[in-house]
Amino acid sequence: MNLEIDGILDKHDFTKEEIIYLLSLKGADAVKLMDKALEVKLKYLDNYVRLRGLIEYSNKCIKNCLYCGLRKDNININRYELSDEDVFECARLAMKLNYGSVALQCGERQDGYFTDKVEYLVRKIKEISQGTLGITLSCGEQTEDTYRRWFAAGAHRYLLRIESSNEDLYYKIHPKDDRHSYVNRLNCIDNLLKIGYQTGTGVMIGLPFQTTEDLADDLLFFKQKNVAMVGMGPFIPHPDTPLWQYKDMIPDKKERMLLTLKMIAVLRLMMPEINMVSATANQTIDDLGREKAVVAGANVIMPNLSPEDNREDYGIYPDKACVHDKPEECYNCLDIRMHTVNHKILYKEWGDSLAFKHKEK
Ligand code: SAM
Ligand code: SF4
Repeated sequence: MNLEIDGILDKHDFTKEEIIYLLSLKGADAVKLMDKALEVKLKYLDNYVRLRGLIEYSNKCIKNCLYCGLRKDNININRYELSDEDVFECARLAMKLNYGSVALQCGERQDGYFTDKVEYLVRKIKEISQGTLGITLSCGEQTEDTYRRWFAAGAHRYLLRIESSNEDLYYKIHPKDDRHSYVNRLNCIDNLLKIGYQTGTGVMIGLPFQTTEDLADDLLFFKQKNVAMVGMGPFIPHPDTPLWQYKDMIPDKKERMLLTLKMIAVLRLMMPEINMVSATANQTIDDLGREKAVVAGANVIMPNLSPEDNREDYGIYPDKACVHDKPEECYNCLDIRMHTVNHKILYKEWGDSLAFKHKEK
């Protein structure tokens, strides 16, 4: 098919062929795509960046995802779980820094101790902040009942990346067993949507075996599910995981960054009102990665609030950006970085997804 960039960029609905074309753009045409995405973002969402103060609650995990440093079989990692007081301290810090929301993230567990604990932490964060802090959870696959309990306790957003919408690729990056079921992942996303969470999903970009066609299908999947938020970021190989053996077959950092920016830009055109995270992984592979993603259409950043002692142990991938920065330093640094790209930080607000608000009406 013969496609022309100028004829496509004003659309919000693309065919798969058009998405593949857009994801393949290079040089000045790729810049044109990102400029258009920025224009669309500014029109719908203004130049505000929403914040979610990240609390890396625990790195204990029962799963064995083939890409992640927190996987159960990785013995080169010091397992931890923050104390209740540590978590509350993070919440207090979020309030002090005027972050309107926190995101509690952790390895996956489904035991009663864990599900009760998350429920308790959510309730207490609400109590401590007198309801002012918005709460996003990213604690993996759970039963519908658990998701309902956490929602009732006060969590109103949930992030569960599909990782890849292609079932074959899903099983190339996860073991094929009961604990790693593509169908269950989909069911969980559907349950979150049904319960009423502002539901976010996403994928890693630049995975071994991943094609541009897969990525186009991922974008169509987000649109079809009509999610309120998306978090996509570059895959970063970890030496203590099985996917490390394929590290030479993935695109280099520059290419992965460009592909990530094009994914964000195309999705912004397709879903102008959703919240889209500029992942920390962007900054890990490119010093200006977070800013570049914001300029390509992202509108959410997740500064780290976790206690310094545990940061390195939350080693999803190596050389994570900002591991040694104190939260107060992140605050200043982010503010300055966002100003350099003509964006402002939205302090003291939950920064909910406009797409979700409009869906609710
Ligand atoms: N356990 C929960 C889950 O899997 O949904 C939440 C925590 S998990 C560490 C958060 C995200 O980290 C995953 O959804 C995955 O996309 C991302 N991640 C894991 N390993 C990664 C890697 N090597 N490179 C980039 N992102 C990675
Ligand atoms: Fe556990 Fe999440 Fe990492 Fe998978 S991606 S190993 S579920 S922390």
